[in-house]
Amino acid sequence: MSDYKQLWDSCLLEIGSNVSKANFSTWFKNTHVIKEEEGVVYLSIPNEFVKDWLTNKYHKLILKTFRNFYEEVRNVEYVITKAEPAKTTPERIQTLNKELPLKDLYVNKEDNLNPRYVFDNFIIGSFNELAHAAAQAIINRPGHVYNPFFIYGGTGLGKTHLIQAIGNTIKQKFADKKVHYITLEKFATDYINSLQVNKINFFKEKYRKYDVMIIDDIQFVGKMEKTQEELFHMFNVYCENNKQIIFSSDKHPNFIPGLEDRLKSRFSAGMIVDVLEPEYESRLAIIRAKTKDAGFDMPQEVLEYIASSISGNIRELEGSLNTIICQAGLKCRDLNINEVKNLIKNNIKPKKNISIKDVVKIISDYYNIDEASVYEKTRRKEIVCARQMIMYILREDFSVSYPLIGQKLGGKDHTTVIHSFSKIKNDLKTNSQLVEDLEQIRLLFK
Ligand code: ADP
Ligand code: MG
Repeated sequence: MSDYKQLWDSCLLEIGSNVSKANFSTWFKNTHVIKEEEGVVYLSIPNEFVKDWLTNKYHKLILKTFRNFYEEVRNVEYVITKAEPAKTTPERIQTLNKELPLKDLYVNKEDNLNPRYVFDNFIIGSFNELAHAAAQAIINRPGHVYNPFFIYGGTGLGKTHLIQAIGNTIKQKFADKKVHYITLEKFATDYINSLQVNKINFFKEKYRKYDVMIIDDIQFVGKMEKTQEELFHMFNVYCENNKQIIFSSDKHPNFIPGLEDRLKSRFSAGMIVDVLEPEYESRLAIIRAKTKDAGFDMPQEVLEYIASSISGNIRELEGSLNTIICQAGLKCRDLNINEVKNLIKNNIKPKKNISIKDVVKIISDYYNIDEASVYEKTRRKEIVCARQMIMYILREDFSVSYPLIGQKLGGKDHTTVIHSFSKIKNDLKTNSQLVEDLEQIRLLFK
């Protein structure tokens, strides 16, 4: 199969006669064949949104149509193609229909790393800067600092991206280091399978031979006694030999139900950091980078609107962006703010109407202290601690001004509030209990 363009044009003609005009222009615009290899046709498509539709609704039709022209086709893979940043014009869409370097598109079968996860497209903000800094230190001296490295945080906040970026960078920087990425689920399945077929030695050898081992979503291990045992021994092999081991989890190790104490203490011996939800400025930076990456140059007003209306995790942000990018792609132009509002109105979670008093009440309850004492002048340690947390949350999560916070919390000076805010911010870098508290408290506001 040599002339992909001609082939795809013929397929499109046929597909066009099978689907409505509107559907055709929605789902088949900006698609082209990248290559065919061993009977698999790789179709370039603009984004995740289109991928979902083509996979779920049109896959059979596409496959059948290909086969009409070229019998050997066994399957079709949809590949999201990254565009160069520029204004969207019909000419540009033409230039997008070029072949892409394939190395960017696939998960490496040897080490399971996805080349898409790199630091170049990883935005750093206060929500993840600690994790990012630790990652940089590891990349410079894998196995010698922060070993084990344990990153935790809610879903869609960039854990997988970060730990894979560490793997990809080490791979690039140290040609002799063998890196391996695996999800805990896959690791556990492999372990159980090898137990069943009496190949446990083979399993051990296989997983202990790497220089850098990355295990994602370890939170499920609590329920798996045998796997924990194996993990513990593997863990020792890595640490004793100065080989890097990296974990991610959706919870702090102390909160993983069923996790053995010896594993908890192993995790604590290295570095445990969290990623938080991105705050407004970081969301804006992420949106700006991602729209630019997809080839759009949206007005500042639109970017700000998206950043202020979609909070939550980065995966959700990406979902909304894809909807917008897909529409803009179809219209061959950037969208105005009203069009954007209309498109993402269903993705916006109504913000809870929470007053300063509510915040004081919720946090006082969390710390088990008397709400009234927050407003008083008492310097009792537990009150001071809760009061500082209240000030921090009011500023960071609810964007209340320093003077107003001072005024509402019993007439305190704004410099006191600034001091409390900075203190918590600083302490969060080293005090994992505080980090845990913050995370638990934030859940109470959801
Ligand atoms: P998690 O593993 O924490 O659930 P992922 O790493 O899968 O989250 O991230 C979800 C999506 O958000 C991915 O597409 C990822 O590339 C993107 N993402 C996460 N963090 C960042 C970041 N800091 N900058 C840019 N994109 C990010
Ligand atoms: Mg993940």
